[in-house]
Parts: sequence; C-alpha cells; structure tokens
Amino acid sequence: MALAEKLSVTYLDQSASVKARLDRLKSRSVILRVNALNKFFQSGRQTITALRNISFQTHRREFLCIIGPSGCGKSTLVRILAGLETQSDGEVLLDGRPVSGPGRERGMVFQGYTLFPWLTVKKNVMFGLRMNNIGRAEAAKQADEWLGLIGLSKFADVYPHQLSGGMKQRVAIIRALVNHPRVLLMDEPFSALDAQTRARMQAYLLEIWKKVDITIVFITHDLDEAIFLADRILVLSAHPGEIQELIQGPLARPRRPEQLNSEAFTAIKARLEELIHPPQDGPEEETYPAVPALSDIRDTVE
Ligand code: ADP
Ligand code: MG
Repeated sequence: MALAEKLSVTYLDQSASVKARLDRLKSRSVILRVNALNKFFQSGRQTITALRNISFQTHRREFLCIIGPSGCGKSTLVRILAGLETQSDGEVLLDGRPVSGPGRERGMVFQGYTLFPWLTVKKNVMFGLRMNNIGRAEAAKQADEWLGLIGLSKFADVYPHQLSGGMKQRVAIIRALVNHPRVLLMDEPFSALDAQTRARMQAYLLEIWKKVDITIVFITHDLDEAIFLADRILVLSAHPGEIQELIQGPLARPRRPEQLNSEAFTAIKARLEELIHPPQDGPEEETYPAVPALSDIRDTVE
C-alpha cells in the first residue's frame, strides 16, 4: 500500500484556520501575473521549448514556491520574471504593468554568492542604494539598519570571503531588499548550503518575510523546503516546463520544524513526489543485465 493511502489526511485537506488564511491571501491584490507564457530557445536548427503555456498569479505578501525537475525551465522562468530574459509569447505584469527589462521593483537572489568580493559587507548593502541615487550618508544609515535587522551589525566592515555561506546569503537577501522591491525572486538560494545551515536560513527568511511587505517567488527542487516555506506550490513538469498543479500548502503559520513530521506534511510530500517522479512502468531491475551465478563464474575460472 502506498504511504499516502495509510494516512488519515490527503494533500487536499486543510484545517479551517489554514483555509481561512489562504482565502484572505487570495483576496489581496495581485502583485505579479503571468499570462500564457512560452519560451523557445533556438539551438542550431532545433527549437527547444523551455516553457509552455505558463499562467499564474501571486498575491501581496504571498510566499509562492515553484518546483520541478532539473532542466524544466525554473531558472528560465525566474530570469524572465526578473527581466533578464525575454519570453517568446505571453506577458508578465507587475502591479498590472508589463515588465520589460530589470527593475528595482524586483529583487533577486541566486544560488551562487553574488556579493562583490572587493567591497565590505556594509558597502555591498550600500551599493544598490547608491545606484539608486541615495546619498552616501543616508545609504550608510539604511545599510546599518538592515544589518541590524538581520543581526550582522558586527560584520559590517568585513569582506565577503570572511563570512560563512549562510551569512553571505543573508547579506545577499537584504541587498536585494534595500530598495523595497515589490517581489523578491529567489532561484535555489540555499541549495549550496549544508542541511543544518539551510534549515536555519529557511527559518530566517520566514522571519524577514514577516517583517517586510514583500511577495516572494522562491524556486527550489527540494520538496521539503517548498512545503516548509510556501503558501502555495506551483509544480512544473519536465521538458517542456508546463504547470502540472498549483497546490495550497496545508501547514499553519508560524512554521515550526516539528511540522516536518506531521501527516499533512507527509501527504503533500507524497503528492509532490508523485508529480515530480512519476512511477516507472514495470520493475526497474529488469532493465539491468542478469548477474551470472557464482557457479557459472567458477566454471570459467577453473
Ligand atoms: P532549471 O532551472 O529548471 O534546471 P533551466 O531554466 O536552466 O532549467 O533550463 C530549461 C531548459 O532550457 C533546459 O533544457 C536548458 O538546456 C534550456 N536552456 C536554458 N537556457 C538556454 C539558452 N540560453 N539557450 C538554449 N537553451 C537553454
Ligand atoms: Mg535552475
């Protein structure tokens, strides 16, 4: 019997309070809307369809996770949302206006550490503010406030190479937030971190999200991470990336590590696994060549 069948809840069940919360969320204004988006890449004479017919919307202060197998177009999608890549068809609307090119209403955090190695932590944070024509003294003041918010005031004058991986990503997150973007786009930001640091960063990101008016679109291929963080999870299929299902998260907030052991968590994880790794036809063993019996080998050796 499959694990999901042994549970007393299905992935669609929600407690009354979680349902009420999600209903409230969906009644908030739409921040980002994607309509019938396609993306083709030309590779020699071949056309690769990276994304097909993608439509979804996120609401103010929503935490939306997008998951899908490697190569399904997650990074392409987030790069289009960021304005770093253009779609082949369809539209991306931010607060109802079409997106074209990068803009400061969209902050971005990538997997790799993207701090400038030649600038101190504080100057890294100030950089975006200065680019935005904020005077040096005001930028320094705001950088101090942000560093205080994430508990890194002590590290203001050190260089990125002196920080741990988790600290670097914390600085990268506030650097993306200083100009008060409407949306924070995150492409597998914690996947280079060890499991323990990663769990701490997830809790930490939720803390920041609570304090700042920000809508987050968070890409990951880690199912536990998506379930732990998201209000809703958009599941993409492989080659080409198409929307398979938009799943509402069943967990109450604030999120706690114990929820990872709940039946609701297990049920939704089983559903995501089914969508991302569909069961293969027939037993896998049959595809391997038969191993010769020991007696057969002995015959040829002796
Ligand atoms: P993911 O982030 O989900 O792993 P990507 O968005 O990086 O997937 O890639 C999706 C598909 O698009 C892949 O098949 C990839 O090879 C292809 N692709 C991505 N960028 C380009 C490009 N610049 N030129 C051609 N093909 C690309
Ligand atoms: Mg990617």
